[in-house]
Amino acid sequence: MTDPVTDSVACRLCGEQLTRTFVDLGMSPPCESFLRADQIDSGETFYPLNVRICDNCLLVQLPAYVAADDVFSDYLYFSSYSTSWVEHARRFVVDMQERLKLDENSLIVEAASNDGYLLQHAVAEGIPVLGIEPAANIAKIANEKGIRTESYFLGEATGADAAARHGKADLVVGNNVFAHVPDIVDFAKGLRALVKDDGLVSLEFPHLLRLIENRQYDTIYHEHYSYLSLKTAAEALDRAGLKVVDVQELQSHGGSLRVFSTPTETAGEPTELVGKVLLDEEDAGLHSVEGHLGFAAEVFKIKSDLLEFLIQAQRDGKFVAGYGAPGKGNTLLNHCGIREDLLPYTVDRSPHKHGMFLPGTHIPIHAPERLAETRPDYIVILPWNLRAEIVHQLGYAREWGAKFVVPIPRLEVI
Ligand SMILES: [Zn+2]
Repeated sequence: MTDPVTDSVACRLCGEQLTRTFVDLGMSPPCESFLRADQIDSGETFYPLNVRICDNCLLVQLPAYVAADDVFSDYLYFSSYSTSWVEHARRFVVDMQERLKLDENSLIVEAASNDGYLLQHAVAEGIPVLGIEPAANIAKIANEKGIRTESYFLGEATGADAAARHGKADLVVGNNVFAHVPDIVDFAKGLRALVKDDGLVSLEFPHLLRLIENRQYDTIYHEHYSYLSLKTAAEALDRAGLKVVDVQELQSHGGSLRVFSTPTETAGEPTELVGKVLLDEEDAGLHSVEGHLGFAAEVFKIKSDLLEFLIQAQRDGKFVAGYGAPGKGNTLLNHCGIREDLLPYTVDRSPHKHGMFLPGTHIPIHAPERLAETRPDYIVILPWNLRAEIVHQLGYAREWGAKFVVPIPRLEVI
């Protein structure tokens, strides 16, 4: 999408040239590319994290610096490992079954269905399903569990092909995929091709309003291409012949929207909630370019506060360690230029990360027991969305006087 001659990029929604930066986080390696010990002396590829905003349609977006095929073809993330996410999916299926009166004659299609974490609940109710999962290794696991799954990227052509072979769906679901597709309009056309004329499309994605309000800038990473408001999501769906009819505000991923749309020709009036969310966005300035422009200064404040804290702690002879090795932590640490000099190590509960190093910063990852062995004065919590749970889990660190540091939404020592 980058034009080497003019160094400009076209908006993935409306095609206008992008000339304005929303926030520029510098260069970073892909946030999930953790390194083994034998890799840290090799080169790493850093890609820009220069987030743009379109002057025409207001879509906040990251150009496709990293090809989607590289990221998703052999993806390691298994949704079923998160029990709270599986429960979230189960409740959704129960709600939809009641709302749409789904039964053995219905069809649910899910795009980016992962290992069947959601569709398994429909299968258990006897509702026919089709999963579409680009990562072949994960699609295979879903099929082995009895959840019919095919492996390709959803777009207008593949969606029409699937509809021709399996029939159209009463419900088409996309959870945490709409913001992660490089060609958002083609993906939306794929949704339209799959849904019946009187069917429903349900999409969940992180809400730009919450990202800005809570300064969640570490949720910016290379595979997260679009940072959506209800306004821009509705615009993308409209271009594919889908109209937003209802919305729900969810707590997941720091604040998400669940947006319901139906084919435009049969759509009724949207619910009051649609108007309410659009008004909230407008009040926050998200319906004008100018309303977005203060965010870069907020991000710089987080960076300078955290660096100031870490440098002062070191001057005072304090020992600091990290907790967690989430992808979002890597955006933060690379942006701030924090390496082993300011954060000697972090710990993570996931055993397959032990002995590995964070991408870009090369901070080593240890098992949580390392905290009790080295008794740091401060523990920086990188997954801020789990802060209450982590502070509770690490209550034992209070015995040696440790304090917890949370950098986002503003630096807090607790
Ligand atoms: Zn645009």
